[in-house]
Amino acid sequence: MSEDVTGIVVPIHLDYTYTPGVAASRFLRHIAEGNYVGQRCPKCKKVYVPPRGSCPTCGVPTDEEVELKQTGTITAFCIVNIPFAGQAVECPYVSATIQLDGADIGFYHLIQEIPYDQIHIGMRVEAVWKPREEWGTTTESIAHFKPTDA
Ligand SMILES: [Zn+2]
Repeated sequence: MSEDVTGIVVPIHLDYTYTPGVAASRFLRHIAEGNYVGQRCPKCKKVYVPPRGSCPTCGVPTDEEVELKQTGTITAFCIVNIPFAGQAVECPYVSATIQLDGADIGFYHLIQEIPYDQIHIGMRVEAVWKPREEWGTTTESIAHFKPTDA
């Protein structure tokens, strides 16, 4: 009698080095100094943060840097209820797309300091940074975002 194999468990370990590229490297160096700095398209004037180095609409380089406020608006979110290996935050927690004031695209970060079932699209939030000695070239320098009125 045979059974269908629906999964296997294997030991695996991957070592890799992520190379962020010029635009993201500049963004992360600004993060290490406590600043959110995006790039503006010279043609359509959209501000991208994190920047990719070019405008996907116009196809031109985005060299002009724009320092952004550390407040923004939740444009989408999900409540994470399912634990996974390597998880750094206890469930349930909220991962949201946040559009910083002055930016034209959003990025992902955690929303905390509010019960997850009170979070909504359109909520105003602000960055909460880790202690200065923990800042580095990573968006993990920001602990999370919280409601501006929290
Ligand atoms: Zn453009």
